[in-house]
Amino acid sequence: MIEFDGDDRVDLRSDTVTRPTAAMHERMRRAKLGDDGLEGDPTARELEEVAASILGKDAALLVPTCTMANLLAVLAQVQRSEQVLLEASAHMVTTERGAATLTGAFLLGLPGRDGAMDLDRLSEALRPSSSPLRTAMVAMETTHNAAGGTVPPLAHMQAVADLARARGARVHLDGARLPNAAIALGEKPAALARYTDTVALCLSKGLSAPVGAVLAGDRAVIEAARRLRKMIGGTQRQVGLMASAGLEALTTMGDRLGEDHARARDLSDGLNALGGPISAAIPRTNIVQVDVSATGRDAERWVADLDAAGLRVRPLGTTHLRLVTHRHIEPADVPRALDAFRLCLDGGAA
Ligand SMILES: *Cc1c(COP(=O)(O)O)cnc(C)c1O
Repeated sequence: MIEFDGDDRVDLRSDTVTRPTAAMHERMRRAKLGDDGLEGDPTARELEEVAASILGKDAALLVPTCTMANLLAVLAQVQRSEQVLLEASAHMVTTERGAATLTGAFLLGLPGRDGAMDLDRLSEALRPSSSPLRTAMVAMETTHNAAGGTVPPLAHMQAVADLARARGARVHLDGARLPNAAIALGEKPAALARYTDTVALCLSKGLSAPVGAVLAGDRAVIEAARRLRKMIGGTQRQVGLMASAGLEALTTMGDRLGEDHARARDLSDGLNALGGPISAAIPRTNIVQVDVSATGRDAERWVADLDAAGLRVRPLGTTHLRLVTHRHIEPADVPRALDAFRLCLDGGAA
């Protein structure tokens, strides 16, 4: 297995860069395969059963990406011209709202705090008189990506679900990083999914599978999503090859995510201790947002300077950087990352 790709820069761009483990490669080699568009792939079926059980739902569906899981959740539960309510900076709004050209659903972003939508505004938006559109779905996100890997409390999730259900709206959870949220709360993933009708989870972020995501929910919705998946080209053939890595990811890789969270905290503490004009948010999980607005350099420039100093990060708007810890970031990488920042603060690397 090749883990090293000849690049020794510290890569904090995203947890999506994680490579499959040796155990995943081994499972892929031995996986029982079938044609998932014909008789069905046995390993994909197994992954779907295991995912449903871990998420506390009746059924689950393997899909290529979490973007597709969210799209299918809307297609299967929302009719054209109906409304979906979400916190305004949710990934389904900021990055995936082009899906509306396929779903015909109207997305309304509501203000929130730390990724948790304002309950009064939600209640107001759910009132029948507040819009000619019928609200068919309320969607939450945990961990909340744009808010910096935050984790809305279970009580908030329950309050959102209660409001939505009182109005007959379905509840979806974009849980791309649900295993990180579960670890942060000291709960099982099913405890977070309990308040939702459908839940999406990404296998290829911190869990380290090469590709894949799942959508879980009740049997009728998942069967509808299975038909829709075929329609949009998401049905794959010997997909057990990927499902086998996903099984390894789902059953063995969640427990170690606390290490990523601890490393993120070390990074944040180290950056704040540099004493310069940069400040880092205190992370709840594995995402650290760094404010560089007081440095006289914009985020793009910081990305280029840090890159030259051996550290890869991504910009978050023009004033912030986003650092994400993952399985390939070891304790010794934290001081290396801090050295790169120090070098760039002392006059810049470029
Ligand atoms: C990454 C992410 C997605 C999309 O996942 P892909 O598998 O890359 O399509 C959706 N929602 C959230 C919150 C994410 O962080």
